[in-house]
Amino acid sequence: MALTGLEIYKNLPKTNCGDCNFPTCMAFAMQLAAKRVSLDQCPHVSEEAKAKLDEASAPPMRLVRIGKSEHELKIGQETVLFRHQEKFYHPSLVAIKVREDVPENKLDQEIRDINNLKFTRVGEEIGVDLLALEHTSGEPESFAKVVKRVMDSSALPLILLSENPRAMQAALKVSAEDNPLLYAANQENWEEMADLAKEHRCPLVVKGQTLEDLADLTQKIKNRGTEDMVLDLDSGDLAEALGSFTKMRRLALEKNFRPLGYPTIVFTHEKSPFQEVAEATTYISKYGGIVVMEGKEKWQLLPLLTVRQNIYTDPQVPNTVEAKLYEIRSPGADSPVLVTTNFSLTYFTVEGEVESSKVPSFISVVDTEGLGVLNAYAGDKWSAEKVIKTLEKQKVKEKVNHNKIIIPGLVAVFRAEIEEESPWQAIIGPEEASRIPSFLRKEWKT
Ligand code: SF4
Repeated sequence: MALTGLEIYKNLPKTNCGDCNFPTCMAFAMQLAAKRVSLDQCPHVSEEAKAKLDEASAPPMRLVRIGKSEHELKIGQETVLFRHQEKFYHPSLVAIKVREDVPENKLDQEIRDINNLKFTRVGEEIGVDLLALEHTSGEPESFAKVVKRVMDSSALPLILLSENPRAMQAALKVSAEDNPLLYAANQENWEEMADLAKEHRCPLVVKGQTLEDLADLTQKIKNRGTEDMVLDLDSGDLAEALGSFTKMRRLALEKNFRPLGYPTIVFTHEKSPFQEVAEATTYISKYGGIVVMEGKEKWQLLPLLTVRQNIYTDPQVPNTVEAKLYEIRSPGADSPVLVTTNFSLTYFTVEGEVESSKVPSFISVVDTEGLGVLNAYAGDKWSAEKVIKTLEKQKVKEKVNHNKIIIPGLVAVFRAEIEEESPWQAIIGPEEASRIPSFLRKEWKT
């Protein structure tokens, strides 16, 4: 039975020390009651209180950690079905599968290529999160050797793909310190796999054909002492998987059904590289915790990671950049000055286009409370007056020897007022950022 914030508070130390990153025990208790944090964030809770609170306050979906130190990844601990209800906490992880039996040179090259699957988008670095190494030889020592080789050439945390407990044991001898994810315990091997996971304190994937299988296995494995689990519903069919993932999420979050309160892992099956991206995108949308891909082309990963970045952006926090004067390519006194909003997607799009024009420029960013050009205008978050004040505050006049600014074509309506109320001449820029390079190269003159 769920406890209220007050009932939880009564069992906390009430010292308001702040070690849990909340200012008071009451604030922490309220978050705990809403299942947004876990009890272990308070290091001072007594054993007696812990026993009382642990089960009742545990988040409906367990937080699972994979990897170590700065490479540690977290999945799970989600509290809502839909992002607009609050937010999603831990983005789905993207893993790439590699096989043990690939010749050494080819394997090294594959790992190098995967390490380089990184992109910068709206100011954030996005990339592949995990390597899933598949045991194919049937030889435990050979698997362990390849695990070591992969670890030496990549910092990405590992998923060890083997349902053979002896191979897993050999692999763990060289990798347990780095907290890999063990794949997988099934109806046949679960006792040995659960013991390995417990001994090495590594998270374990539990694999089943049905939700009932999974719920049965997670209970047994938990009773054997392993709690960090990830679920693999071995379905293969996209529509079926989607339906089952939704059921699992509903049971965990709405019914507080603990045996399915774990994040999931899913493998792509589509043979066409295009379809594979579509399949992986579907899993990221609902509710794949880890998506393991075969494809490793940049053109496959960038759209997938972009979708993930969009879905896992916190809708409660405006996506902004600092409102200041940005200098692109060391501009000088005769360089153009472009004006834009502080919505990060707008800013980084403009910045990217200015960069690709190779024309050294200033970008004056106006604080529009994180709204893009038209939304900010419609919502009264920017105006000609605000643009003039921003240019003054950013001392733009001291940086250039001309009086021209380029305003977005979508707010051409600002022009008259800017020119009447300030010494600036407002040039109407393109409506689409993609036209900025040709605009700067062909039309800009002081
Ligand atoms: S760490 Fe524990 S004792 Fe300290 S404020 Fe948080 S809940 Fe209270």
